[in-house]
Amino acid sequence: MQKQDREPIRTRFAPSPTGRLHLGNARTALFNALLARHAGGEFLLRIEDTDRERSRREYVAALLEDLRWLGLAWDHGPSGAEPDPDWFQSRREAHYAPLYARLLATGAAYWCFCTEARLARLRQRQRAAGRPPRYDGACARLDAADAERRRAAGEPAVLRFRVPAGRRVRFEDLVRGPQEVDTDTLGDFVVRRADGTPAFLFANAVDDALMGITHVLRGEDHLSNTPRQLLLLAAVGLEAPRYGHLPLLVDAAGRPLSKRLGSLSLDALRARGYLPAALCNHLARLGHAYAEDPGPADLEALARGFDPARIGRAPARHDPARLDAWQKAVLERLDPGAVRAWLAGHPEGRRAVERVPRARWPDFVAAVRGNLRFPEDAVRWAENLFAEAIAYDAYALDALRAAGCDFLDAAAEALSALPPGAGFRDWTGRVAERTGRRGRWLFQPLRAALTGIQVSGASPGYWRQGPELGRLWSLWERGELDRRLEAARAACRHLDAMRERT
Ligand code: GLU
Repeated sequence: MQKQDREPIRTRFAPSPTGRLHLGNARTALFNALLARHAGGEFLLRIEDTDRERSRREYVAALLEDLRWLGLAWDHGPSGAEPDPDWFQSRREAHYAPLYARLLATGAAYWCFCTEARLARLRQRQRAAGRPPRYDGACARLDAADAERRRAAGEPAVLRFRVPAGRRVRFEDLVRGPQEVDTDTLGDFVVRRADGTPAFLFANAVDDALMGITHVLRGEDHLSNTPRQLLLLAAVGLEAPRYGHLPLLVDAAGRPLSKRLGSLSLDALRARGYLPAALCNHLARLGHAYAEDPGPADLEALARGFDPARIGRAPARHDPARLDAWQKAVLERLDPGAVRAWLAGHPEGRRAVERVPRARWPDFVAAVRGNLRFPEDAVRWAENLFAEAIAYDAYALDALRAAGCDFLDAAAEALSALPPGAGFRDWTGRVAERTGRRGRWLFQPLRAALTGIQVSGASPGYWRQGPELGRLWSLWERGELDRRLEAARAACRHLDAMRERT
């Protein structure tokens, strides 16, 4: 029994707190959130902390923080990392116990006393014989009363689900279409471990049903779990959600992304300076294609066009250049205040915020926006445009030397001859007249002289060209322009003197 298109839609994200959120599980969270929003439904967060050894409270806290940072607010779920019986599986024993009892009472599950050593030998034998490892049903035929006595005497046992023989499980995957599995290929599986904790297949499926989840989008590594979970839910009389399995995320070389989780954890990406909106826009297109792409969009707009039917089956390639393109697109649309808030959230970015006079901030952002991807870019421009002493980079010095000190003298003279109120065009017009230079031959050395930065092959690829000179000009008072040209002339003379000496 599977939920059909019954409203309202309820989705969930159900992470195991055994590590930080990375691109892969962030995409799963996003897709579920978008599906819920698309339908005006609800998005839940549940913590699957049944692995006592690997689950950690700090990871729960970090998960909540990362999800909030991404903007994926949950309608129901934990408000903090302190485990509670509503949202943490480690505390939901009271919900599970009656279901174990029911499985036992109906014979849908049985106690299994097989030791780990026996199971390991069994798996080895099966593999050696070229068969897939599967429980052989040794305990399936034990007398139930005997088994209860052994348990009462303290013998450790797991509770195993009895997979019905000779049946077919059919379901419609939201992404992959009709699926059909022969139950004879599924071994009897554990629903409750010997230490009393619920096994993943059980807690995961049962909680979805108990929490009224209608749709589950999850990684395709879970596809093979679905038939087992459908059998289990039917056996306890609970209604199953509809499942959709997302294609694997791979890197440019086609390798699973999960091999490089560290560098792709959300906290690493956040520390690098990526904006949550850039990540959401990137992730919303990893394995999912919009019928009409909304371009750089907020979550509302990303949700509007989101459609599980448009999730592909082929592995989804994560191309970092695409992510950077979203970062650029999102930055281009941020107003100066939001750019300031973004930078203020980063230790490096704060240096830029502190360096630029407040009144100059909007003009600063307008001037350097095209050269901003990460906080470090803002620092570089802020320091060069507003520092007391201009630091000329090697490429800027080359540009000054190539243009020659005469050119800079002419630029300075043109500036001092400029009548009050005359602007950038008047100045460059006069410099052009005096020097015969036009276009980039005129603007490049002037920009190098005024900023100390020459965009070059050594600059980040996304700089390609420097900020527009006219916009930079308006950042400075006349006295500051004089001072900057004077510094450039001094640097040029110094270069000449050095050359004479060698
Ligand atoms: N805790 C599971 C995981 O993180 C959830 C799987 C699911 O979404 O059903 O893989």
